[in-house]
Amino acid sequence: MSFKDLQLIDPLLKAIEEQGYKQPTGVQLQTIPQVLAKKDVIASAQTGTGKTAAFALPILQLLSKNQEAPRGGKTIKALIVSPTRELALQIGNNFKAYGRHTNLRTTVIFGGISEKPQVDVLAKGVDILIATPGRLMDLEKQDIINLDAVEILVLDEADLMLDMGFIDDVKHIVNLCPAEKQILLFSATMPFKVEQLANTILKSPERIEV
Ligand code: AMP
Repeated sequence: MSFKDLQLIDPLLKAIEEQGYKQPTGVQLQTIPQVLAKKDVIASAQTGTGKTAAFALPILQLLSKNQEAPRGGKTIKALIVSPTRELALQIGNNFKAYGRHTNLRTTVIFGGISEKPQVDVLAKGVDILIATPGRLMDLEKQDIINLDAVEILVLDEADLMLDMGFIDDVKHIVNLCPAEKQILLFSATMPFKVEQLANTILKSPERIEV
């Protein structure tokens, strides 16, 4: 099966071709149709399987379709929470590459550096935000970030986030987003605490294992 068979739109197919990807990986084949169908997903997939594109491509597609209708310009519609700055930056680079023929705006925020440049970018309006939990909550508390319009929330590397002690932060972030949202949870391993989190936040999720 090809990326075209997955019903992806031309601006994404063009970017995929430019990336040199010939065919979807297993996690992409399984995940992309479920996300496009607006299902919640819990996927056990390691880094290296192509999991970033598995959520980034359908998110870009859902948001670029929605963009045809007039909407508020300064609202975050997709939020990707990542445990570390390195992973967040990687995810951001992937979104930028796959979304280069769309007009969706992506930015990455993380702690350990000055807030100012991040605040300036956020002020201009961002459709897709990739963030580490601490900086996200800091900026939300200051009313610089508003999550009221989030339609899709991704929790990436959920096992690592819980190992790093982010459980309360993650739950808090889930609650800052509207109740009616689509959630995608990715984790390399599925220990009990990840299952437990999934049980409390996901609605009839599709399970994907690669
Ligand atoms: P990830 O698991 O998301 O960290 O992706 C691992 C690597 O695989 C990244 O360098 C991606 O650019 C690459 N990749 C993702 N999807 C594909 C694909 N369908 N074909 C070839 N490479 C891919």
